[in-house]
Amino acid sequence: MKRITSLLALLSLLAGCTSKETKTDGTIVTTIGMIADITRQIVGDKKEVVNLIPEGLDPHTHSPTKSEMDKVKQADLVLYNGLHLEAKFGQILEARAKQGLQTLAVAENLADVELLQAEGENDPHVWNDVLIWSKVAENITNKLAEIDPDNADHYRTNLKTLQNKLSKLNDYAIESIASIPQDKRVLVTAHDAFSYMARSYGLTVRGVQGISTDAEASPRDRKDLVEFLVEKQIPAVFVETSVNDKSIRSVIESCAAQNHQVTIGGKLYSDCMGEKGTPEGTYIGMINHNITTITNALGGQAEGFKE
Ligand SMILES: [Zn+2]
Repeated sequence: MKRITSLLALLSLLAGCTSKETKTDGTIVTTIGMIADITRQIVGDKKEVVNLIPEGLDPHTHSPTKSEMDKVKQADLVLYNGLHLEAKFGQILEARAKQGLQTLAVAENLADVELLQAEGENDPHVWNDVLIWSKVAENITNKLAEIDPDNADHYRTNLKTLQNKLSKLNDYAIESIASIPQDKRVLVTAHDAFSYMARSYGLTVRGVQGISTDAEASPRDRKDLVEFLVEKQIPAVFVETSVNDKSIRSVIESCAAQNHQVTIGGKLYSDCMGEKGTPEGTYIGMINHNITTITNALGGQAEGFKE
């Protein structure tokens, strides 16, 4: 028995760098990286934040693994987007909440936020509007203050710092998009993840497929989009890191057949951030990348957001 215990100790030592990931007692668990990132900035060193859905995977279709469910069961609090973003995972969390698990759908029930509708449902992609995400940060802070009142002041101070940065990022987004010639402020991507960005920063958005990555684009939708691009002479379309780009490439080919050259303006982060350790691996870095890439590809001028 003793040998087994010391073997286990050795193994956990060897696993050193991953020990943070497996320590779940008293942790806050999040479903997507954008929630994890702002939550880390709010809690500072007071709590461990563990994110579940790995960057690059699609939250619309993700089913929780056994190890992810183990982390959920041990968490102090589970933060998820809600609005049916995490379709199956969200249902599981709702059921768990009825059994006493502390959860918060961070994007639901926000005061003074008008949600967009898509295909008869609320559009879940609210992080693409920086000011809405700032309200989400406040929502998270209120919940943290409720379950951990001793550290409430700490959380509120950190929230202020974060909200100041987000306010500047929002100004950067408005100025950047406004530098694109007006008739070229059109964003074409594989799926409809950017409607909130479009509404707040003045873009028209067109997705090849619907609101969820689950649905396939119909030939009719594709044909309409090609006609639109040719007619408006839109110079660039965008691919997404978590979505197959097959449909967008077929649109480019169809435009070429009608003598309109469309380029790929770049890769956008729609439903997840970039890899850990890269500039896009944070919420601010992700939005900065998207805004800067879109602006420059459509003929505007953006030099990148500096905090
Ligand atoms: Zn999406």
